[in-house]
Amino acid sequence: MLKIMTPGPTQVRENVRLARSLETTNPDLDLEFYDYYKDTCLLIGELLHTKNEVYILDGEGILGLEAACASFTEPGDKVLVIDNGVYGKGFADFVTLYGGEPVLYSAEYTEDINISDLEQFLEKHHDFKYATIVHCDTPSGVLNDVGKICPLLHKYGILSVVDSVSGMFGEPLFIDDSKIDIVCGGSQKALSAPPGLSFVTVSEAAMQAMENRKTPIASFYANILNFKNYYENKWFPYTMPISDIYGLRAALMNIKEDKTFSDRHKSIGTATRKAVLDAGLELYLKTGYSNTVTVIKVPEGINAKDILETMKNNYNIMIAGSFDVMLGKVIRIGHMGENANIEDMAETLHALTKTFIDLGRELKVNLKDRFLKYLAETVNEA
Ligand SMILES: *Cc1c(COP(=O)(O)O)cnc(C)c1O
Repeated sequence: MLKIMTPGPTQVRENVRLARSLETTNPDLDLEFYDYYKDTCLLIGELLHTKNEVYILDGEGILGLEAACASFTEPGDKVLVIDNGVYGKGFADFVTLYGGEPVLYSAEYTEDINISDLEQFLEKHHDFKYATIVHCDTPSGVLNDVGKICPLLHKYGILSVVDSVSGMFGEPLFIDDSKIDIVCGGSQKALSAPPGLSFVTVSEAAMQAMENRKTPIASFYANILNFKNYYENKWFPYTMPISDIYGLRAALMNIKEDKTFSDRHKSIGTATRKAVLDAGLELYLKTGYSNTVTVIKVPEGINAKDILETMKNNYNIMIAGSFDVMLGKVIRIGHMGENANIEDMAETLHALTKTFIDLGRELKVNLKDRFLKYLAETVNEA
């Protein structure tokens, strides 16, 4: 069987797949389903350290990003788009689509956002309704310190929208402490359910901003306000994908019950990066490494596509390339959620070492050996 080691969609555990095959009810009419949905939202909030409202939306990750922009943006609104990655910049499109004026704050794609630089910018320019920022920008794997950035935005009265689709659960996220107004998540990354669902956490200030709009939200499907009081009114804006939500719940429980989940991401991420450097390969990033994905530069004279194809054809393992400005320049190993286990990572790194040999390029050391050595060292240090 093909082993999926991409930075999302990730591997899906059997209990999640089986939960999706449970008998279903009518989720519009069966009042018990409203409790099930609400409890599932509370579980998301618990794992992300927030008391804010959580809504599960019927559409994969992108829907949450669009819903945040659709629900906040009024024509003419100025929106700060913090751009140090492909998804970061992409927010500008949603802002424009809903009539807003995106103002790009662009920084190097190889580094996380420098807090004092941003602070200096904000001192001079802070007339924004809201700002968008990506927690882990998956194409490069850069991890932004939203725990510092969002309180700063809050200080200037700027609402925050954080895309943590590929960060959350694998990387710690303290939504309330970080004062984040909307956080967007998806089912198919560290959560390790199949693609299909997104969810948003919504602060009171965010709700008020939507309610105080002068113009109506220019969408139905992407209108977060439609979910307000769903529980009291026993009404969803559209029929909920009940089987997807059964699977999501099982995946959330897998994380809740796994006490080493977060630490394991950290040790696997760290050991992988060290092994890559020992082998004579280069990381794409200079700073801001997310522990959910490792992004490796493709050495000169080798083709990214050949690496990916050899991995798949010879070793039955799927890793990923990247896109946009990183197309063909990097390969990516996703070690988030179900993928974040030592056996699969060791196998993947061994296969990658052999793939380089197959392509006529011997690495300085076997990636797997170094990975296991560094992992053993973290265990001993702890
Ligand atoms: C995966 C991902 C999304 C969801 O979008 P897809 O293109 O459907 O995968 C959104 N934001 C980030 C940062 C992601 O990694």
